[in-house]
Amino acid sequence: MALVQKLQSFPSVSAHYPTRHKPSSVASPICSLHYKNSPFTEKHSIERYQRDQWVYKNDRHRPVEILENLKYQSFPSSSGCGCPGEDSVRQNDIALQLPELKKLLQVLKQKREECCGKDGNGESCGPGNVFLVGTGPGDPELLTLKAVRVIAKADLLLYDRLVSNDVLDLVGPDARLLYVGKTAGYHSRTQEEIHELLLSFAEAGATVVRLKGGDPLVFGRGGEEMDYLQQKGIEVKVIPGITAASGIAAELGIPLTHRGVANSVRFLTGHSRKGGTDPLFVAENAADPDTTLVVYMGLSTLPSLALMLMNHGLPVSTPAAAVERGTTPQQRVVFAELKDLAEKIVSAELISPTLIVIGKVVALSPFWPESRKEASCLVEAT
Ligand code: SAH
Repeated sequence: MALVQKLQSFPSVSAHYPTRHKPSSVASPICSLHYKNSPFTEKHSIERYQRDQWVYKNDRHRPVEILENLKYQSFPSSSGCGCPGEDSVRQNDIALQLPELKKLLQVLKQKREECCGKDGNGESCGPGNVFLVGTGPGDPELLTLKAVRVIAKADLLLYDRLVSNDVLDLVGPDARLLYVGKTAGYHSRTQEEIHELLLSFAEAGATVVRLKGGDPLVFGRGGEEMDYLQQKGIEVKVIPGITAASGIAAELGIPLTHRGVANSVRFLTGHSRKGGTDPLFVAENAADPDTTLVVYMGLSTLPSLALMLMNHGLPVSTPAAAVERGTTPQQRVVFAELKDLAEKIVSAELISPTLIVIGKVVALSPFWPESRKEASCLVEAT
């Protein structure tokens, strides 16, 4: 029996958190597993393509002549080769967006030549700026003022799957938005291609904004992008974002550290580069009852991680929470003791993005079920 809570259902929630984000829609059923309006679903990715006017369509429905043209288009030094005969969805995705990108690049270069002259002298003739911007876990009110300002003046924005639609709504009408997330089924861009795009536009003098969910430097591969661009002589400015751990802990009223309860907090990834369980080796030294563990990308490896933590001495009754789409109106939360967490996540059918918090501090949440047994909105998930 899983206890699945939708926090905004608690009538007293605003009394606990007077400044907390008020979700725009509260009405959807607590345990509904069909999220028509999720900011994170794949369906939305298509909508994003359409919104960007780089309409994504299934190959079968695309006229033959367009497919033929697409095969021969190429992008400067892009690792997508555009070779004839390659007809993977990814190739076509990229090809489909190339004309728009090329046009935009051309316009930017022309503008620059007009302003700077061919010799490229003048103050504004160096490369453009690249901003690596953290957008927080989803609630747009968690953006920094700096992020809002930079987003508003961007020429081109590249964003990934964890950037919520509410955040994208802040983008100016003249800016170009490009989805570069890794959404299963759409085979979006590789990291190398993202690097190339950032570089090409920065070299053309554009203000390029790379939006990343949470904080760009926390499990965001922001460091790799920064590294690549800096090596090419492009300055990258990082605008931090509220990482999922902080945003979600605040939403749930969990202090990540608390005197006498947790004297440190540790952010872990449950995801392996090679798809295995190698990150779990940390369990050996992470089984500390005085440390709060926050697991990113941990849904699939949680069963093994929980077992290892318990085998290494973390009490089986350690309070834990799993939070799907935290800080968005679709947020769902499962509270459980560590020994039951994996099973309860499965029965509640939580999906990515889900953050897992393990530690005694979880029980300090006013929503921890042991302290709220009387709460009327706890429901049983089937
Ligand atoms: N840079 C991001 C983390 C990217 S890794 C940050 O600082 O938050 C992606 C993982 O972050 C997801 O698999 C999930 O574990 C977590 N995550 C990010 N946003 C989340 C959200 N709104 N709700 C739940 N988990 C989230």
